[in-house]
Amino acid sequence: MSADTTLLRVDSLVCRFGGLLAVDHLDMEVAEGAIHALIGPNGAGKSTVINLVTGVYRPTAGTVSFRGERLAGELPSTIARRGVARTFQTIRIWRQMSLLENVMVGFQCRTRSNLVDVLLASRRSRADESATRRKAFEALELVGLEAGAGRLAGSLSYGQQRLLELARAIATQPSLLLLDEPAAGMNPQEAGALVELLFRIRRQGIAILLIEHNMRLVMRVAERITVLSFGRKIAEGSPAEVRSDPGVIKAYLGQSEENAAA
Ligand code: ADP
Ligand code: MG
Repeated sequence: MSADTTLLRVDSLVCRFGGLLAVDHLDMEVAEGAIHALIGPNGAGKSTVINLVTGVYRPTAGTVSFRGERLAGELPSTIARRGVARTFQTIRIWRQMSLLENVMVGFQCRTRSNLVDVLLASRRSRADESATRRKAFEALELVGLEAGAGRLAGSLSYGQQRLLELARAIATQPSLLLLDEPAAGMNPQEAGALVELLFRIRRQGIAILLIEHNMRLVMRVAERITVLSFGRKIAEGSPAEVRSDPGVIKAYLGQSEENAAA
């Protein structure tokens, strides 16, 4: 991969929790505009990678760079402003707020107004508010929730709540979107619609790093897949390459045996 198409790059990334090596010397690159999946059995370290990239966790060692500049050590808000947005494995929405408000809150890190502007209700902050409202509505349109923009978020189905989180992340106009199991809890129709949505997002020039257990979905959307097991990268390549990799099959069989035993 040539340097000018690399958007996100992690080098020898390590994250240790006490005696546990959650991420063990991971090297990975996400290309500009790509849909790149990060898969692996439960506990492999996938969510930890997203938390390291977004500044929630500090790496024990190694570097994260975005457009060739270092990210590791920056605050989550700074990283968000630089164009990295995410959703969470556990849904985080405000149930008592409308869909539109939920998206607008997530958008705040991107508006220009400072606190003084807000307090003075200056012209600039009102202009920002209407621009924010418009962009929030556009994000709801992208995920197909615009008809219920004024509804309370708590009234949404589980799959729709995942779409709302996605809208909130997209509204910040990121160049990289990190999605932690967006299809979890979705029915097959919703998961099918999510495939189309991910392609639409990519067409806007947004690269996606996708953590997902729904392998049908992963194989359909990802052009490149990185496989983690116990924090280590055990395979990387196209869906066809990864699917037929004996190490990958073994890692997943280990997990299903565990599940069977449990
Ligand atoms: P995955 O998302 O692939 O299922 P995680 O990244 O959530 O895996 O977790 C990887 C490992 O790190 C697991 O063993 C998990 O228990 C552990 N872990 C994750 N976060 C923490 C934390 N904040 N403190 C201690 N251990 C953690
Ligand atoms: Mg996880």
